[in-house]
Amino acid sequence: MEKVFRTESPIETQNIGEEFGKTLKPGDVVALIGDLGAGKTCLTQGIARGVGIAKGEVVSSPSYILINEYNGKIPIYHIDLYRLENIAEIADLGIGEYVESDGICIIEWAERMKEGLPKNCITINITWEDENTRTIKIQHSIP
Ligand code: ADP
Ligand code: MG
Repeated sequence: MEKVFRTESPIETQNIGEEFGKTLKPGDVVALIGDLGAGKTCLTQGIARGVGIAKGEVVSSPSYILINEYNGKIPIYHIDLYRLENIAEIADLGIGEYVESDGICIIEWAERMKEGLPKNCITINITWEDENTRTIKIQHSIP
């Protein structure tokens, strides 16, 4: 299944994320792929809202600490692999445990995990079109 959206502002991207977040279930893994500034963190803010994370909880980029955890009805593990030095770090950081957990994993720069990504993950590609325009493609792999 594939869905494509075009957004013209960060708020529109968050709204797409929110609607998508409402469809997520415990154990889902979301692989976010897109360049720096594409809008992966922005989309994640909307997804967290859709999953039911309280509005007061500020979802920010976990670039420096790699993993942020948000506790709502379903816990969210927001992982950012931008600063990943090598593939062995995935194991060192225990990312596999998050991916196999009953929480929801949202992974920025997910392509850096390579084979570490589950086969049934939901892939979202975000493409920068111009300053305020992004294309968001959501793909559910066929089980
Ligand atoms: P990433 O996590 O992919 O590096 P961020 O979400 O941190 O990207 O940043 C996206 C940037 O692009 C923000 O500064 C945001 O305001 C800006 N932006 C402009 N238009 C959009 C849009 N349509 N969707 C998402 N972000 C947008
Ligand atoms: Mg980011």
